[in-house]
Amino acid sequence: MSDASPILRISALTKTFDDFTALHGVDLDVAEGEFLAIVGPSGSGKTTLIRLLVGMDDPTDGAIWLRDQRIDVIPANKRPTCMVFQSLALFPHRTVGQNIEFPLKLRGVKPAVRKERALELLDLLRLPRDYYSKRIQQCSGGEKQRVALARALAFDPEILFFDEPLSALDYRLRKTLEKELKDLHRRTGKTFIYITHSLEEAMVMSDRIAIMRAGRFEQIAPAEEIYARPVSPFVAEFMGEVNFLSLSAGTVAGAELSPAAQAALAGQSGTLVIRPESLRLAPQSADLILSGTVAAEYLLGSRVQYRIDSPAGELTVEVLREDAVAGVGAPVSLGCDISAVHAIAEAEDAAA
Ligand code: ADP
Ligand code: MG
Repeated sequence: MSDASPILRISALTKTFDDFTALHGVDLDVAEGEFLAIVGPSGSGKTTLIRLLVGMDDPTDGAIWLRDQRIDVIPANKRPTCMVFQSLALFPHRTVGQNIEFPLKLRGVKPAVRKERALELLDLLRLPRDYYSKRIQQCSGGEKQRVALARALAFDPEILFFDEPLSALDYRLRKTLEKELKDLHRRTGKTFIYITHSLEEAMVMSDRIAIMRAGRFEQIAPAEEIYARPVSPFVAEFMGEVNFLSLSAGTVAGAELSPAAQAALAGQSGTLVIRPESLRLAPQSADLILSGTVAAEYLLGSRVQYRIDSPAGELTVEVLREDAVAGVGAPVSLGCDISAVHAIAEAEDAAA
């Protein structure tokens, strides 16, 4: 994140329902113009957080700042910077224009000014201007999403919040809208805070990902960093297929280490994280070498995935098809470079 002061600051935010704590004092800074994705399993507190940010609910403790202004004490309708994108809340029997203008009409903006703004937004969302008089019922699913976005942008909010807006759509429409949202973010320069349970969606669109678990942020970083250097086994598994090896005082059970690997891991205990694509079959040389037997083989298009039984446990290896060597039952050696290995220290591991 840049050195500039954040557009949004969340400080020790807590939300308790009766005796259940849905948010445990979370902190977060969001930079101006950032696309932040918040991901986490169902029930981890994502919607609770967004409801507090837009003022649909009050925090039990903590504070929310928009630039220099504390906003958690301001009612929702007085937070003009905050809008939630909800496609299902369009009025189906009204026109596209009436839908986009609705929030402006509520605030008493004059008809001519509203129309001007609605037409600009149609341009921005790349919908033809004659859609202004078209009824919502006549629009396709993708067009409705764009109208809903235009409406969310009508007030020129500084931050747009999204709570799983694409989860109900079919795969192809979702993929198209992911790209359109990313593109819209670039063209408007607005700050987007986007909740999803789809890691793939988060990786395609965001600058940073915040991983939520049981009412806390477990890690907040760009996708590549979370993938390569997860802070906990939970995060490592959330980011895709992974192998865990047990690291104890610098030794890895069932593996042979090169002098470079011994030096890098000296004295450390915890969990080693190795992605399936970092392991090579029958390597000429490697920093960490294991042996095992092929238990299963799966074709994944241009790649092949193997399950290997080894003294270090069951391992997953993914290689390019031309590098596939063995069939089920064959003995194999596998290895990887120390640069592709990430160690999670015991203390962090236990805290997870
Ligand atoms: P997510 O959006 O990540 O799926 P939520 O924020 O909706 O999760 O919910 C987080 C936890 O808070 C869940 O265990 C949920 O049951 C609980 N929760 C949410 N809203 C309420 C409420 N109004 N009363 C009681 N518990 C709630
Ligand atoms: Mg939710």
